[in-house]
Amino acid sequence: MRIVVLAGGIGGARFLRGLKQAAPDADVTVIGNTGDDIHLFGLKVCPDLDTVMYTLGGGINEEQGWGRADETFHLKEELTAYGVGPDWFGLGDRDFATHIVRTQMLSAGYPLSAVTEALCDRWKPGVRLIPMSDDRVETHVAVTLPDSGATPDSGERKAIHFQEYWVRLRASVPAEAIVPVGAEQAKPAPGVLEAIAEADVVLFPPSNPVVSIGTILAVPGIREGIAEAGVPVVGLSPIVGDAPVRGMADKVLAAVGVESTAAAVAEHYGSGLLDGWLVDTVDAGSVERVEAAGIRCRAVPLMMTDLDAAAQMAREALTLAEEVRSA
Ligand code: GDP
Ligand code: CA
Repeated sequence: MRIVVLAGGIGGARFLRGLKQAAPDADVTVIGNTGDDIHLFGLKVCPDLDTVMYTLGGGINEEQGWGRADETFHLKEELTAYGVGPDWFGLGDRDFATHIVRTQMLSAGYPLSAVTEALCDRWKPGVRLIPMSDDRVETHVAVTLPDSGATPDSGERKAIHFQEYWVRLRASVPAEAIVPVGAEQAKPAPGVLEAIAEADVVLFPPSNPVVSIGTILAVPGIREGIAEAGVPVVGLSPIVGDAPVRGMADKVLAAVGVESTAAAVAEHYGSGLLDGWLVDTVDAGSVERVEAAGIRCRAVPLMMTDLDAAAQMAREALTLAEEVRSA
């Protein structure tokens, strides 16, 4: 069975680990979000690709969900001693090596997809991990920063990098708009459309619907390719009990006018894209609303408390895909 998964960071990676356990013989292609990528200290950092790679490759910091296990921060401390920032983005010593290798290869002319493949030679994630695009796409967030008080009512409206919004500001001000800068001109990376066209099923893990999966779908050709592939497309809700399980997805959902409920996220994807949707058992009351939108829906436990729980979620998603196929 050929499975294509569109993935962000933590939610995507933890689900993928479950999927590998649930379907060990499946051929899994992961299309990774690169809208969160950022240049820091002259290095290209791809947080979502790395979270998937480290999680599936056994190098992740389990408690945190991102970054390397057994990490130290000497390099960051030295940079801070020189007064060189930003200091709000946590890059550890082990993690730095990944970004150095990546940047070196990019500078030598390799596309990001080839670099990612090379990094995965070490980590052996057991899936084919492809960035959504080799072209630069950067998610920006329009915000109004609190006024310094100098002039009345003059909070400054500006667009900031997604990481600045998410990590530095911790989504503490409303997101007024989310813009995947460069997405319109970006082309899917080599292999992306081919994998979609050859897939038996497409899964949306419980990744952020706006800044993870939404950004991947914003690359021209990807959404169309999925809709036209004619295979079951099944998603799992990242919203449980009207709130994100972790993180601040409600803030970016609000920016695109979507309420933080499992049903609203399904409707946001829409029946033109999504055939099946899993909501958590606490949201069983929303099954009817999702089905009324033309999307087959089931309520099952959706908390990835451990690997077995994530594997069970993957089995439920594949079962729902089979139901869609034979309907
Ligand atoms: P990020 O790039 O690291 O933010 O990760 P993703 O976009 O892949 O996933 C983030 C989403 O995962 C958040 O909106 C969370 O609500 C969701 N999430 C995290 N853990 C769980 C879980 O155990 N169950 C469900 N259903 N969603 C989860
Ligand atoms: Ca991310």
